[in-house]
Amino acid sequence: MVENENKKVILYIFIAYIFSIAVRFIWVYQFKDVSMFKFNGQFMINTNDGYFWAEGARDILAGFHQLHDLSPVDSAASKLTALFVKILPFSFETVIFYMSTFLSSLVVIPIILISQSIKKVEVGLIAALLASIAWSYYNRTMSGYYDTDMLNIVLPVFLLWSIILAFKTKEEKYLLFTALDILVYRWWYPQSYALDFSMFGLILLYILVFDRKNFYLYKLLSIMLYAMMMTSIYIRFPAVLILYIMFKDKKYDKYLLYIFLVGAVGFFLTGGFSPIWSQLKGYVFKTKVSKEDKGLGLHFFTVMQTIREAGKIPFETFANRISGNVITFFISVIGYIWLTYKERVFLLALPMLGLGFLAYVGGLRFTIYAVPVLAFGIAYLIVQIADYIKDIKLRYTFMVIATLAILYPNIIHIVRYKVPTVFNSSEVAVLEKLKKIASREDYVVSWWDYGYPIRYYADVKTLGDGGKHSGAVNFPLSFILTKPQDVAAKMARLDVEYTEKDFKIIDENKSKLFDKKRLPSTIEQMTVDYGYKDSNDFLSSLKTDIKLPKKTRNIYLYLPFRMINIFPTIELFSNLDLMSGDRFRQHFIFQSSRFVQNKSIIDLGSGVKILTKEGKIIVGDKMVNINRFVETIYDKQGRLHVKVDRIDPSSSLNVIYMKNYRRFLVVDNAVYNSTYMQLFVLQNYNKKYFQPVILTPWAKVYKLKI
Ligand code: MG
Repeated sequence: MVENENKKVILYIFIAYIFSIAVRFIWVYQFKDVSMFKFNGQFMINTNDGYFWAEGARDILAGFHQLHDLSPVDSAASKLTALFVKILPFSFETVIFYMSTFLSSLVVIPIILISQSIKKVEVGLIAALLASIAWSYYNRTMSGYYDTDMLNIVLPVFLLWSIILAFKTKEEKYLLFTALDILVYRWWYPQSYALDFSMFGLILLYILVFDRKNFYLYKLLSIMLYAMMMTSIYIRFPAVLILYIMFKDKKYDKYLLYIFLVGAVGFFLTGGFSPIWSQLKGYVFKTKVSKEDKGLGLHFFTVMQTIREAGKIPFETFANRISGNVITFFISVIGYIWLTYKERVFLLALPMLGLGFLAYVGGLRFTIYAVPVLAFGIAYLIVQIADYIKDIKLRYTFMVIATLAILYPNIIHIVRYKVPTVFNSSEVAVLEKLKKIASREDYVVSWWDYGYPIRYYADVKTLGDGGKHSGAVNFPLSFILTKPQDVAAKMARLDVEYTEKDFKIIDENKSKLFDKKRLPSTIEQMTVDYGYKDSNDFLSSLKTDIKLPKKTRNIYLYLPFRMINIFPTIELFSNLDLMSGDRFRQHFIFQSSRFVQNKSIIDLGSGVKILTKEGKIIVGDKMVNINRFVETIYDKQGRLHVKVDRIDPSSSLNVIYMKNYRRFLVVDNAVYNSTYMQLFVLQNYNKKYFQPVILTPWAKVYKLKI
């Protein structure tokens, strides 16, 4: 009987695992012929942050990296990747593309094992099929979604499994499994702490209310405490092993209280509580402008406002992302309540459910935590209802149909979810070329969104990236891209040298308990160094002939075509008064790639019309003269030709027709004169400051000459 059941468990795990992987190949199949998504004959990844881990893995395999290049060579994701590349017969690109496919699908194992503990393996199979491909879990673990999410649910569900088994069996080995899982989970994802700690709290609560004399549970709590401490894994791992050996032997039971207390004190002393709080603060409490509470008290625009994942989401999206469908979501909740009523141990999944529900206020990314828990809910409901059906054939038919019904909306979503790769092959070709030109110590300045991929493909340094994009970091980037070339060039030199200088200051003060968060922003330091008290005055002084810091390396500007779409967002970060935090008037930029020409009127949509004969433009209910009418065309050799018609120099609006891109831009003079527009769109670079290095329609690279 038991042997039979074990066989069934293995079979179910196999089925669910293959299913989960197969579904993740839908995207691969859909794009198999799209060469723009491929690099070195393999698909490129489709998550920006993935390039961070990829950079680390590349550098681990190379055996070197540069000081202060921010390469995460110590991160678990990079280490595991490097290991896979070493031991598997696949290319680096193949490993990073498919890691999420194969690792995230492992979630089916603990799900089915948990169901075995309540003697309903069919519940596990159905839950595994759903949880492994449910909407948000799929989105964050699809093929090419190379990020820590690939194990971020697998590991806590394993934790849930070992704690449930600990409660059910009271066997010592589950103490060890629980502790080891916490160690691995923390290694993989340091923020896992919040979830571990809530599970710990829940068990503690249970003990205090129901089971104060249960020695075994105190052992469980103790070993969890040691595993969760904020110290090196080289301390925690042996500690956990010693505890496990002691806990197996009854003669040490009398020391249990001391072991627990030492663990609790150690936990607090090592700084146990602080991470949860700072994480919550970041996601839940969002402020418009961050103020530095020291020095000049500069106000910066924060990135939180522009990130969708930190925004409040509509209920339907929330439910869809967890269960694939609003109805499924509600039925799943009912199922979960029923399940916990029958099997109290499932209350231990509450922290995961809670974290998932936090998404409703705290941002999309959390929904994945609720996915497996509610999958259990609906799977349990299906199996319980099926149990009322006496006829076996009918019972299985019901289960199959119900399972297909809950999978259906998720599969539909997956088929339609055709996300592109982060970069296309033409953009990567530019970076590959740049890699051969630039040295590894050189800086490439671009918007932070492109930081990680730039570093991965060109192996250079960047000022901003997916993990470094505070208002203070973004201000100079935004300034460089959206202000005129002369001040932009000076800012580029200044910010690179000041950034490197900050690294040195941090290094020199390493031994002195120096808090690097107290370093003033580069802008503030520049303001002070150049003898100003007001950053606006300093920024104005850039127009004059100021003395720049000593050049320590080359700087390149990477300007991709795709940046045009986010230009208005980029501008927000430097279009404000740093002293007061007040935003300046927004500059005018309007783009249209869907326009209709009707004789001498070009309708760009949204109430914007160009009257070509009169040289006028209608915006809403206003009609004004056009300043410049510009047409840009690439010839057969790929050279850009720019034709400028000066119509009314006193007017503030300019029209640019980028013929090959089939795109119209209507921009005011400030945007027209911005470094991005001049260098990318018009290739009208100031020879004093810039020198073109790579010019393609997809992306252009300029070298800074100062
Ligand atoms: Mg490097």
